Amino acid sequence: MIKTLKRLGAYMGGRKWLLPCSVGLSAVHGLLALVPFVLLWLVVRTLLTAEGNLAQTPLWDYALAAFVVSVAGVALYFVVLMCSHLAAFRVETNMRRRAMERLMRAPLGFFDTQSTGRMRKIIDEDSAQTHTFLAHILPDVAGSVVAPIGVIVLLLAVDWQLGLASMLPIVGAFAIMGYMTNPKNNDFQRLYLDAQEKMSAEAVEYVRGIPVVKVFQQTVFSFKRFYNSIINYRDLVIQYTLQWRSPMSGYIVAINAFAFVLVPVGILLMAHGSRPSVVVADVVLYVLIAPVISGNIMKMMYLSQNLFMANEAVERLERLTSVVPLPESATPKTAESFDIRLEQVSFRYEGAERDAVSHISLTIPEGKTVALVGASGSGKTTIARLIPRFWDVREGCVRIGGIDVRQIDRGELMRNISFVFQNTRLFKTSILENVRYGSPDATIEQVNCAIDLSQSREIIDRLPQGLHTVIGSEGTYLSGGEQQRIVLARALLKNAPIVVLDEATAFADPENEHLIRQALSHLTRGKTVLMIAHRLTTVRDADNIVVVDGGKIVEQGTHDELMALQAHYYKMWNEYQKSVAWKL
Ligand code: ADP
Ligand code: MG
Repeated sequence: MIKTLKRLGAYMGGRKWLLPCSVGLSAVHGLLALVPFVLLWLVVRTLLTAEGNLAQTPLWDYALAAFVVSVAGVALYFVVLMCSHLAAFRVETNMRRRAMERLMRAPLGFFDTQSTGRMRKIIDEDSAQTHTFLAHILPDVAGSVVAPIGVIVLLLAVDWQLGLASMLPIVGAFAIMGYMTNPKNNDFQRLYLDAQEKMSAEAVEYVRGIPVVKVFQQTVFSFKRFYNSIINYRDLVIQYTLQWRSPMSGYIVAINAFAFVLVPVGILLMAHGSRPSVVVADVVLYVLIAPVISGNIMKMMYLSQNLFMANEAVERLERLTSVVPLPESATPKTAESFDIRLEQVSFRYEGAERDAVSHISLTIPEGKTVALVGASGSGKTTIARLIPRFWDVREGCVRIGGIDVRQIDRGELMRNISFVFQNTRLFKTSILENVRYGSPDATIEQVNCAIDLSQSREIIDRLPQGLHTVIGSEGTYLSGGEQQRIVLARALLKNAPIVVLDEATAFADPENEHLIRQALSHLTRGKTVLMIAHRLTTVRDADNIVVVDGGKIVEQGTHDELMALQAHYYKMWNEYQKSVAWKL
């Protein structure tokens, strides 16, 4: 409990007093809530014992006090919730903010290994998860602990004999409660969660399978597993409910059994000479106030569960954001020229058994184009991503203009490189914003020029609001190849001296491919280019073709040189020609 609170407290910022304040006031509120009962008891006792002399009694004072205390109680509870909500919102906001800050500094490659859905869930829902706990449960629990103690003290103080008698049902109820919440009698929680998880997994499986199920005209059997998981869950819950029927009934009876105990004890007391009016007034108080205990115990039971969930939420969030940012040079240097050199570069992904690429040495002179070719999984993407520091190399170094990329200011490095992937996504905003993304100050003329060069003009002309059309709105969805052209317009506008293309034409259909290639030729003109392409015709004209296999460079040279070697590239080329012939 304390540990979780400390962890949450770290997100509280400057106003650490808010939460203790809320909890403290909530305790006061718990006691204050008892006062009207006491006053009511005084009223009843006065009425019963005044014997016709009501005018001389402080009846009205009691009533007024009860009113004032009730109003004060409401006001106090308002303050309690105010404080706890301010604290909870601060924590929630700060958790989100800190997560976003840390993710912004995470290495770019980190996002490869995380599902976006999961990240969103953690940042968004898990921060929200702490809200219920801090804003509602925690302050309520303070009141729920203090109020029953206050009640017990009061019961014993007013009349110790009646007090002791009323302890009987309370002790009984606690015993049953202890039995029910004892983990030893209760491995249900785990079974329950398992069954729930299974059901949800089967549901996902089922929904995912619907197209297949329909295509193959299956019905009942495809339902079977999902159906079974539902039945299993149902049986479990019913069995659980039945199992606790008796103890739970016992608990309810015990916690509400005051009247049964109090009335006989009251009669006994009267038989032994107590004044009947006093005894009756006391019994009234006891019957009124005792249910406060049961109500509050229920609230306390929610605490442990919520505490657990809040802790899990912080845990998940901190695990996600514990990723170490790439180190920044304290004295960054500026690259004056843009030739790229990889010197004996090796890199291994976290948790991998062997290097994804090892001892890669290669040079891209300024203004030249180098192509990487090789089988899938040979390490091409990895090499390309080491240049803009998606990750840092394990050995060796990557230099731009002779300067180690680790010493170049991060912003500058990003400005100097345009990276086009095979599946770059557009944002759900206007095309103009999308194109302007990398260069917010660009004029509309510059944007239009980029649109023309990227061969996207005909896309824009077709859209209802031209450049201002929001992508994804009103059915304006672009095909993969069209999106890629818009992405290229963005890169053209950015006009960075280094261009890295990773399978930029991979998803294009034949018609698009031609346009994309035209766009690429504009983008790469006069630039230092590293190009990865599946279609070997695309790389044919490169100044240098580097063949990668198993993370190592196996040969390099121009198309003609490599063909003359009659080795790896020669084989790939022939196979490629065959596959193209097949398609035709
Ligand atoms: P290519 O682009 O040539 O297809 P990659 O550079 O993507 O090859 O992959 C090289 C090797 O590194 C492969 O064995 C691949 O499984 C592994 N790899 C790629 N990305 C990751 C990653 N994010 N985490 C772990 N291993 C990876
Ligand atoms: Mg790749």
